[in-house]
Parts: sequence; structure tokens; C-alpha cells
Amino acid sequence: MAAKAAENLQLYSDPACTKLRDIIAADLGVDADEIVMTNGSDEILNFAFMAFCDSKTPAAFPDITYGFYPVYAELNNIEYEEIPLMDDFTVRVSDYVGINKTIFIANPNAPTGIALPLEDIEKIVASNPNNVVVIDEAYVDFGTQSAVSLIGKYDNLLVTRTFSKSRSMAGARLGFGVGNRALIRDIETLRYSTNPYNVNAMTMAAGIGAMQDKDYFLENCRKTAQCRQWTTEKLRELGFEVIDSVTNFVFAKCPDISGKELYLKLREKGVLVRHFDTERLREYNRITIGSSEQMEQFIKTVREILEEKK
Ligand code: PMP
Repeated sequence: MAAKAAENLQLYSDPACTKLRDIIAADLGVDADEIVMTNGSDEILNFAFMAFCDSKTPAAFPDITYGFYPVYAELNNIEYEEIPLMDDFTVRVSDYVGINKTIFIANPNAPTGIALPLEDIEKIVASNPNNVVVIDEAYVDFGTQSAVSLIGKYDNLLVTRTFSKSRSMAGARLGFGVGNRALIRDIETLRYSTNPYNVNAMTMAAGIGAMQDKDYFLENCRKTAQCRQWTTEKLRELGFEVIDSVTNFVFAKCPDISGKELYLKLREKGVLVRHFDTERLREYNRITIGSSEQMEQFIKTVREILEEKK
């Protein structure tokens, strides 16, 4: 579909993304005007900082979360509070109740892979009626209940989604937001004032194709969850502490090797994982779930590194 769309690149893309929005709306059981399409979900996250934070309304998000939240806050000159996660990397819900700030929560969170139950999300949204709560659902399709079901009940909830993860379209740059009409209108004002053609014609066509191939999508999510389980078990057999993940990555540490050393040795052997050199995360690595062959290779390489250290 994207190749077909490439034949007509002399035309501007549809700024309203009508067909794609209609398909997504039908899939989620919402109205098309409760959806705004963006260039990846990074774009809508930046729009949310621009639209819903100011000098009187700072942002708040966990101290360990998606690294772009503080970047967008700083880019837009917005003050922000980083609320520490508990020692087990979960969110303490009471820290977010009635705090009069614009709240950003990745659910499930990155890089931990831990999700908050929907009742907790609802408590946070319900207790901050005068502030927007943004729930970033980049990884939701791998096994978390979505907050989209709450948008009819709360006008201060914005849910953001992406085609980058569960639909394997990171390079196409496609994301969207779902929320009350008035919230979506605010984001649309920003979008039309910056770049109404933020979603190009080939990406839009690819997005429509992806939405129409639901079987492929479901099978992909199932395979990822299965491979995640396999990887978790194998790492635990090798002595790792692995956080139970509901995403397409696992977050793990090993008592026999520091996070940084493991990261560097894996890199030497051509295996890339993500290491965060910060106080609370230093011992861990974030391992993205690839194909089963890739994960077998990963486990084999980790085993070799641990043997070499003995
Ligand atoms: N939210 C989270 C939690 C992410 O990890 C990412 C991607 N790394 C994004 C949003 C943005 O993804 P994209 O812009 O590709 O939709």
C-alpha cells in the first residue's frame, strides 16, 4: 500500500488523515474526532507538553521513565518534578493524587517493563480533574489494559499510542492520541499551526495496511510475549534477576557481572542492549525481544561472557 501511495507523491497528504483515523476509531470504539494522528508518538508527547503545561502548571513524571519527557519539558521551558519510583520500580499511586501538575505516565513504563493496573490510572486521572493526565501507551499491546476505555468518562485524559512497537513501523513515524474532543481540538490547533502534513502519504497508507492486517499484528504480539517468557526463564537460569515485563523488552541484572561490563562485552561480540549509566539503573540492562533466533544468540553470548569471567 505504501508503494502504491508512492506513485502519487506529487500530491500533499490528507491533513485530516480521514481514512486512517476512521479505521483506528472503529478499532478502539471511539469517534474519529477523539483521535489526532502524529509523526510518531514523540510528536504528540511534545504537543502535550506545549499545550497542557505552562509556568503555573508544571509537569510531573516518574524519575525513571521515557527519557524524552525531561527533554520536552526543558525544550518548552516547563518546570517539572521527577517523582521517585519505589524501590521495586513501581509507581506509588498516592504520589500522583491531586497534585495540580500535568502528569505523564508511560504505561507500561520504560525501561522497567512494569505496568500500573487500570484502577490505579483511574485514581490518578479522577483525582486531578483540573489537570491533563497523559498516559503513554507505547507498549500497551504487549499485555496491558488500555486507558482508552476511560476517555468517555474523564475529559482530562489523553492516551498516546504508536505504530513503532507492536506494529513494527518505527521507521514510518506514526503515532496518535486519543482523548476527549476538546483536548484533541487543542492538539489539532498546534498540529495545524506547525505542520498539517505531519503524516506523509506513504506512512498513512502503511498505517491503513497495518490496521487491516489484524491477524499479523496479533500473531506478532503473541510471538513477542512467548519469546519474552523464554528469554526471562533463560536469564533466570543464568542467575539474572529479571523484572516481569509486559512489554517487548526485559530489564535484568546479574550478581556476577556489572551492568556496564555486560553491556560492553555484548557490544564487543556484536550484540546490542541498552545500558543506562545512572545511579538506580546502572546494574541493569534493557534487552529488546527480537526473533527467537536472535534471542537464542543473545543467551548463548551471555553464557559465553559469564563463563569467560569464571
Ligand atoms: N513512549 C515511550 C515510552 C517510548 O519508549 C517511545 C520510543 N522509544 C516513545 C514513546 C516514542 O515512540 P515513537 O515516537 O516511535 O512513537
